[in-house]
Amino acid sequence: MTSSDRTMLEWESPMYREAVGQFDQVARLMGLDENVADRLRFPQKATVVTFPFRRDTYRDVETLFGYRVQHLTTMGPTKGGIRFAPDVNLGEVAALAMLMTWKCAIVGVPFGGAKGGVRVDPLELSRAELQRVTRRFTMEIINVIGPETDIPAPDMGTNEQVMAWLMDTYSQHVGHAVPAVVTGKPPALGGSVARREATGRGLMFLLPQAAHHVGFDVAGARVAIHGFGNVGRYAAVAASEMGCRVVAVSDITGAIYRDDGLDVASVAKWVDEHRFLEGYPDADHIPGPDLFLVPCDVLVPAATQGVITRENAPSIQAKVIIEGANNPTNLDADEILRERGVFIVPDVLANAGGVTVSYFEWVQDVQKYFWTENEIVGRLREIMTRAFDDVLSIANSEGVDMRTAALIKGIRRVADAKLVRGIFP
Ligand code: NAD
Repeated sequence: MTSSDRTMLEWESPMYREAVGQFDQVARLMGLDENVADRLRFPQKATVVTFPFRRDTYRDVETLFGYRVQHLTTMGPTKGGIRFAPDVNLGEVAALAMLMTWKCAIVGVPFGGAKGGVRVDPLELSRAELQRVTRRFTMEIINVIGPETDIPAPDMGTNEQVMAWLMDTYSQHVGHAVPAVVTGKPPALGGSVARREATGRGLMFLLPQAAHHVGFDVAGARVAIHGFGNVGRYAAVAASEMGCRVVAVSDITGAIYRDDGLDVASVAKWVDEHRFLEGYPDADHIPGPDLFLVPCDVLVPAATQGVITRENAPSIQAKVIIEGANNPTNLDADEILRERGVFIVPDVLANAGGVTVSYFEWVQDVQKYFWTENEIVGRLREIMTRAFDDVLSIANSEGVDMRTAALIKGIRRVADAKLVRGIFP
């Protein structure tokens, strides 16, 4: 049986296939020892749970599926978000856990990768329902999470409030408050200031370096952002603070476009009040997928996976793509874009600001000593820009694209750690 067949038995999903395909390509290029490569192809632990869920109407009891996958436990606790989405599955979560491993290693935070999720549509849940799903799911995975073992964080469909309920459920269970069990929680509970903005802000810290590499000015650059949630919104705020023109943003209801630049603060206010971009008055409304076609210098996919495809890749006008979402670009689209000379700052590097500030939050919780916003943002900028320089230098020395270079950096670090730890027993 080939390694690819074995991969598909437990984890079958397009995303896991892509993650392993990408890993295999880079491992071959690096000449990685096949014994180590095989250990890294599969998550070390995976928990699948099912649990009952009753909606507010009390009529039916549904069975929900939940997952927590820990890809690598070699280098410290595992770390990764929990997503609530209608199509989450084990393979997707396993792929995202693997990506988290490379991401942590690329920015040098001492965690392995994890990911979790519940297959439920958060848009259909009332606040009380969301709380019940969160608390019950936390109980289901309580034995596999903890401040020294596995530390969840927000992802698609979850937020600070969900993390607060998770922290409360865990703390009730052990009998005392454990803020360090989760990151991305509200500052009132030991959450870090600047965590909410960290991913979007972190990816925009890389824009000046990317623009310099490609040869255009950040001031006045036209930016289009797919997704206006945690990542997309703060990327838009950061871009407009840097003097860029944010010409288009989108959410699940569609996209808005304004050639002379959107007023990002007013769009954010609209979404706070109305939840979605739908109905926003001061822009043209276009179908969501058309966001990928608007004239722009910088494209930031910041919603969900698999949105840059071989169908839309030939029409993308951006010179730079900074991947805010995880896995937004399909492998065949990646190749098309590379051939067209589009400079891609890959997800494992670009959106690592989230896990970096999560790491800061965990350190602050464990030490019970909190840093100022300036300290956090300064350290975030330093880590992100240094990681970009390291990856670009690998790309230049090895003659590879940024995604391959980032993966070489991450995989090398993890493989070195595995080899020096040896095999137990
Ligand atoms: P979110 O739920 O806060 O926002 C998601 C946004 O995308 C919303 O505007 C939503 O309307 C839109 N969206 C969702 N599904 C869509 C679809 N099928 N088509 C078009 N638009 C859609 O999520 P988030 O935390 O901003 O995460 C977005 C992406 O960034 C995910 O891929 C996530 O894994 C990744 N990411 C998030 C963080 C973080 O700190 N939150 C860190 C690293 C990576």
